[in-house]
Amino acid sequence: MAEKRLAAFDIGGTSIKMAFLTTEGDIIRKWSIPTDRSDSGARIVGDIARSFYAELAADGLTTVDVLAAGVGAPGPADPIDGTISGAVNIGWQNGYPLKKLLEEAIELPVFIENDANCAALGEMWRGAGSGAGDVVCVTLGTGVGGGVVSKGMIITGVNGAAGEIGHITVEPENGFLCNCGKHGCLETVASATGIVNLYKQEGKEAPDARTVFEHAAAGDEAAKRVIDRCAFYLGLAIGNIANIVNPAKIVIGGGVSEAGEALLLPLEAYVKQFTFPRAMDVLSLEKAQLGNDAGVIGAAYLAKVMTV
Ligand SMILES: [Zn+2]
Repeated sequence: MAEKRLAAFDIGGTSIKMAFLTTEGDIIRKWSIPTDRSDSGARIVGDIARSFYAELAADGLTTVDVLAAGVGAPGPADPIDGTISGAVNIGWQNGYPLKKLLEEAIELPVFIENDANCAALGEMWRGAGSGAGDVVCVTLGTGVGGGVVSKGMIITGVNGAAGEIGHITVEPENGFLCNCGKHGCLETVASATGIVNLYKQEGKEAPDARTVFEHAAAGDEAAKRVIDRCAFYLGLAIGNIANIVNPAKIVIGGGVSEAGEALLLPLEAYVKQFTFPRAMDVLSLEKAQLGNDAGVIGAAYLAKVMTV
């Protein structure tokens, strides 16, 4: 009998990325389906199951050939019962029983983590983490996502809220208001919108973060100060995380990281400034490598380690 494969679903606001992988984390096949947000997201589980069975049948296989399924969910997952909270963008009520419903629908064990944690597991396993079991991922996009992997396992905390790096307070006084309700979160100054916020504070306007980086490259002093501040806040947060978990690698991904050395060089200096020297000895800063595949690869890893 052929070796069993893993199934992985990465549920996003507009599409659901789906894949079959080997137990070594190689993608056998991947595809995606649209996310149907109508009826409070009630059709999503059925859509996933139908597509899963159809693609499995296309390969001449049945569920017997699948070890388990891993899922990246668009909100914190309860580590005990697999319910999802904070996925209001796709219509699910807090406490949505995703694990139970999916296990009934595809008749396989299902393991769930939030999407940022899955991306961190993916990068740890097959991406920039190159198998190092102690990796912290920071994704700089419209928000700031994060995941902390320690000894190969994601740190979930009591109710799945661990590793919310974007909500580390980096500006304790007069910080911008964050979507989470706090002020001064990392996300308010280091995301794409955060960079625009900082530029506005300099009395300047830019449509997006990319433009701020372009202005900085062209010599705009205000834009240069903004990028330095962004690097400072990120370095402060990363240094403090490194002191707690002592990782081998910090992996930086997301659209903002495309700015490359303009951000990563000053960031490296601030990380060094704020990290305990012994932790710094073993730490390196890496760019994420897996792009959009990080979520399904991490979800597959989760399914693998939770099953064996
Ligand atoms: Zn926040």
